[in-house]
Amino acid sequence: MGDDRRDHLLDDLLAHLDASPSPHHSVASCVGRLRTAAFEPVHERDAWSDLPTAGYLVRGGAMVAWRLPADDAPDVPMRIVGAHTDSPGLHVKPRPDLARHGWRQLAVEVYGGVLANSWLDRDLGIAGRVVLADGTDRLVDVREPVARVPQLAVHLDRNVNESGLVLDRQQHLTPVWGLDVGVPGDFATWIADRACGGSAVGAAKWWELCLYDVQPAALLGADRSLLASGRLDNQLSCWAATKALIDADDPTHVTMIVLNDHEEVGSASETGASGPLLERVLERLVTARGGSRDHLLRALAGSTCISADNAHAVHPNYPERHDHDHAPRVGGGPAIKLNANQRYATSADTATLFQTACEIAGVPWQVFVSRNNMPCGSTIGPLTATRLGIATADVGVPQLSMHSARELSGSGDPLHLAHALGAYFGM
Ligand code: ZN
Repeated sequence: MGDDRRDHLLDDLLAHLDASPSPHHSVASCVGRLRTAAFEPVHERDAWSDLPTAGYLVRGGAMVAWRLPADDAPDVPMRIVGAHTDSPGLHVKPRPDLARHGWRQLAVEVYGGVLANSWLDRDLGIAGRVVLADGTDRLVDVREPVARVPQLAVHLDRNVNESGLVLDRQQHLTPVWGLDVGVPGDFATWIADRACGGSAVGAAKWWELCLYDVQPAALLGADRSLLASGRLDNQLSCWAATKALIDADDPTHVTMIVLNDHEEVGSASETGASGPLLERVLERLVTARGGSRDHLLRALAGSTCISADNAHAVHPNYPERHDHDHAPRVGGGPAIKLNANQRYATSADTATLFQTACEIAGVPWQVFVSRNNMPCGSTIGPLTATRLGIATADVGVPQLSMHSARELSGSGDPLHLAHALGAYFGM
């Protein structure tokens, strides 16, 4: 790949990372790329009589997109790539206005498995979705340093460097967003105003809003071989999946991506991987093309899924946390994740499938298995495999600082993943 092409792709990836502070924004960013590539929207409430060859469907913070092959037989198998749009963080509570000890604060709820210390002393913006007084809803992204969770001074916590930092999730993660001047804070009116460009009538009624680090994504290192950003887990995979689908412009299978919400809290929701979203779209894609339930089941029997979610790279300061022979390195390409206890869905067959895709794409790959004496994480792969009975591989770009407000990966591995997924769609 030429330097210009590589720079162009990295610019596009950085733009997606910065445009995706919330699941709804991640979906909007991916939809923008799909629309530029002539994908057409399809709605769940409509009859799917005139299905576009390249289409997408959005539900909340989740989406499904597909390309249909020229051979339109309804039992053609699917090639599916899955990823998730959500990341751990701090969400704004429904009654957020607090005034304490001369400060104005925002009440927040902890979402998912945050690395709590990483949220301290960062300049935080606010993004997500608001429902306004007139019943309409808006995406909003206040990309400004609005809030901050200040850390206690070392002078008032003398043993912190020796004993470790202990943070109570209710008491110690509440951000400040100004001084208490004797007037009650009014977050609902403020956010409605920001959502409407200053022309809101009344306050926001409800919202799904998260705080995020306003520092943009950046290439790091003297040779720019590293990438630092919030939400690398799992916006890297959302970007790579979308790019691969756009590039797979003449597939022989039904090629699809599914970007689910709520992976970080267990995937049990209407838009999570344990919900019915993908299954319903798969069935409707078959019936809309004249197929029966038997066609659907035959298509599923020949289908495969690559579940893309970041992996833990070996950390130079903590190498003992990995099994030495199964420790992915940053820069070594996407990792195939295996777990005999089925925390990952990868089998010998699907490992071979992804390995072959990497070899066709000419990109390196590696293997991750966790230590026997450490708990193994999980992701949407086993859920999709269980729900649909589709042969699935769990893979992912290796990174450090997973679930930090600002994570670290290589800058080349996301491109490797995109190319490998593109090769998979063409297999
Ligand atoms: Zn993840």
